[in-house]
Amino acid sequence: MKVRLLGTGAIYSKYNCASELIDDKILVDVGNGVLKELRKTNYYFTKLEMIIITHLHADHYADLPALILNLEVEENLKPIYIAGPKELKEKLTELCHIYYQDFFDKFFKEKIKFIEILPETKSIEIFNDYDIKVQKVDHYNIESYGYIINNKIGITGDTCLCKEVLNIFENSEIVITDISMIEGTNYHMGIDDIETIRKTYKNKILATHLRDDTREELKKKCLKDVIIKEDGVEMII
Ligand SMILES: [Zn+2]
Ligand SMILES: [Zn+2]
Repeated sequence: MKVRLLGTGAIYSKYNCASELIDDKILVDVGNGVLKELRKTNYYFTKLEMIIITHLHADHYADLPALILNLEVEENLKPIYIAGPKELKEKLTELCHIYYQDFFDKFFKEKIKFIEILPETKSIEIFNDYDIKVQKVDHYNIESYGYIINNKIGITGDTCLCKEVLNIFENSEIVITDISMIEGTNYHMGIDDIETIRKTYKNKILATHLRDDTREELKKKCLKDVIIKEDGVEMII
């Protein structure tokens, strides 16, 4: 599988907000900077099939109305699935109305298919080629979900260190991991949490949602198999 890291930063960072594009088809999170990152490489929006939103903090879907504006002008666009927590459809529709009045109403009806993710949701079953497992994680006071794609790529989403995160490590080869902090909190994992996970799990870790000070500290630590990349980097996994 091909993974393009569209963003690897936290909201307080000079990097784009954490986001990944899988095989040019599945876009995970659409925070600030993600749309421009897609535009930099002349991405063909007609390739997009699904957008997955991990949770409803702005740094994970603030660019979504503008992305939809870019989709709306594409000819030959396939219907697009947007999966996310239960209030996503309502909030996104409201945001689109605030930004662009009723411009999208017809497009939403014709081209967007919402998939509601609930705490009990086990998987997203849309594609034959992709087995997407859903794992509710613990991001303090907001519903937040991690995902496991084809038992290969784990995505923690925003989370503290909890047993559900370990489940993602258990069932993936490489884990795109929230390492926002130097020391973990009840919102986000920290470098200390990664060192704890490392004692049991040897998966490759792709660091994301990094604050800039955390990025520098993590680079200094040179932890084995913890990979720190710049925005825009593409990897074959
Ligand atoms: Zn968050
Ligand atoms: Zn976040």
